[in-house]
Amino acid sequence: MTLIELVRGDITRESVDAIVNAANSSLLGGGGVDGAIHRRGGPAILEECRGLRASRYGKGLATGKAVATTAGDLDARWVIHTVGPVFSATEDRSGLLASCYRESLRIADELGARTVAFPAISTGVYRYPMQDAARIAVDAVRAAKTDVEEVRFVLFDERAYEAFAARLR
Ligand code: ADP
Repeated sequence: MTLIELVRGDITRESVDAIVNAANSSLLGGGGVDGAIHRRGGPAILEECRGLRASRYGKGLATGKAVATTAGDLDARWVIHTVGPVFSATEDRSGLLASCYRESLRIADELGARTVAFPAISTGVYRYPMQDAARIAVDAVRAAKTDVEEVRFVLFDERAYEAFAARLR
């Protein structure tokens, strides 16, 4: 059984085995949570991301996939970068968003991570409606077959926190 916890705050302040980053396919940094992780985590993360681009991910990381790097100066062992879908009003991309959570937990299992912190993937610049994103996230983690003992959703604001809390109840 995986324990699911909710925290309101800044994910870069969490102490866990792995912090999940809502990255973009370039893996070369961006705004939002991605920018915050690289700022606080220092240059080692970007350096490893550049290496991944040069080797395994020349075309970038596909939407719904995940890959791990060092966590640099963060209080974690790894950052798991995953690429959420951009919300579309005409196309159902919930499967891709669920895949982000599932694939991140699969990578966490490969690493031996027992505690994992997730942001609300795709709910910032990628505009996913918060309630839909919360339902998809909570359901995907609940359904995952994983050895991760604790999943912590770290929600930046009250609106996100309430949406996740409502789905967990
Ligand atoms: P995406 O491109 O996947 O939408 P964003 O980083 O733009 O990713 O936003 C994802 C979510 O992360 C948003 O709900 C945003 O409010 C939140 N967020 C931004 N910074 C942080 C942070 N430091 N810790 C936790 N959540 C954050």
